[in-house]
Amino acid sequence: MKELEDRIRRDGTVKPGNVLKVDAFLNHQCDVELFNKMGAEWARIFAGRRIDKILTIEASGIGIATIVAQHFGNVPVVFAKKTQSINLDGDQYTSLVYSFTKQKEFPVIVSKRFLTFGEHVLLIDDFLANGKAMHGLIDICNEAGVIIEGIGIAIEKGFQNGGKELREAGHDVASLAVIKSMDGEKDTIEFA
Ligand code: 5GP
Repeated sequence: MKELEDRIRRDGTVKPGNVLKVDAFLNHQCDVELFNKMGAEWARIFAGRRIDKILTIEASGIGIATIVAQHFGNVPVVFAKKTQSINLDGDQYTSLVYSFTKQKEFPVIVSKRFLTFGEHVLLIDDFLANGKAMHGLIDICNEAGVIIEGIGIAIEKGFQNGGKELREAGHDVASLAVIKSMDGEKDTIEFA
């Protein structure tokens, strides 16, 4: 999606450790108009699919998913939580995920009340790097018996393995910007 690529070029910064910072528009300050266009693009890509629900992961996925849901008939958005809380009552689906940015393991938790066997879901997230977060969501979907119709990613770091593995496993991954390479010192970002 050209507009997203242009925005990454304009406002993104490359940090040490292959981390792309896009907090000016994607995951701290949120550009709602851009999210809206991303939603339109995913709606075009996944047109004709049955989507009953969108599943994402806190925190960065939530803002994107709620805007995107409006392009899929205002379906409910469920976000996986990363910490246990007394507010999380009842039975839960849980998977363990290793965080690329935080460099530690965390749980991914969804209440069983919000995923119903046989539902068709679209998975959404801001980044795809090694695919750990997405695998956590997929584990939960498999446990719940829901059907994954597709995976929508805002920014895929194509030089890491997550996207390749998910596609090889048969998932329909739609990444709106795929980064081929990036270099903080030279201040360059190349798209696939
Ligand atoms: P993965 O689990 O695919 O390795 O990483 C995906 C998760 O890590 C995303 O949910 C995102 O929050 C975070 N992440 C991975 N790479 C980056 C990056 O380059 N920049 C930012 N801001 N977040 C990233």
